[in-house]
Amino acid sequence: MLKVHVAQHHAEAHLVSALLQARGIQAEVRGEALFTILEAPAIIPGAAPEVWIADSTRAAEALELVRLHVKGLAFPEGAGPTWQCPACGETHEAQFTACWKCDTVQPGASS
Ligand SMILES: [Zn+2]
Repeated sequence: MLKVHVAQHHAEAHLVSALLQARGIQAEVRGEALFTILEAPAIIPGAAPEVWIADSTRAAEALELVRLHVKGLAFPEGAGPTWQCPACGETHEAQFTACWKCDTVQPGASS
C-alpha cells in the first residue's frame, strides 16, 4: 500500500479515491474513522483523511492523476468535459453524476 494523497476533507478523499478507481487503480480512504460519526461531519484538525493505493507499481500514474486533480484539470483521457453544479457552482469531473457538495444531480445525467 502506498499513500498518494492527503485530502483536505472526507469528501475530497473519496473524490480522489473514485478518480483513481475509475482508472483501474485500486484505492482506499484511510484515517476517516473520526469522520464516520454522523454527528461530527465537520473538519477535525489533524485528522485529514488519506488516499492509499494497493498497487505501488502504479504509484507514478496515481500521483499524476492526483496532481491533475489538485490542479483542477481534466484527465488527459477523461470521460468528457467537466461540469459545474447549477446549485452551488462546484466543478466536477465528467464521470460524477451528482455534486459531492450538495447532492444536486448533474443536468442531463443518464445514470
Ligand atoms: Zn452542488
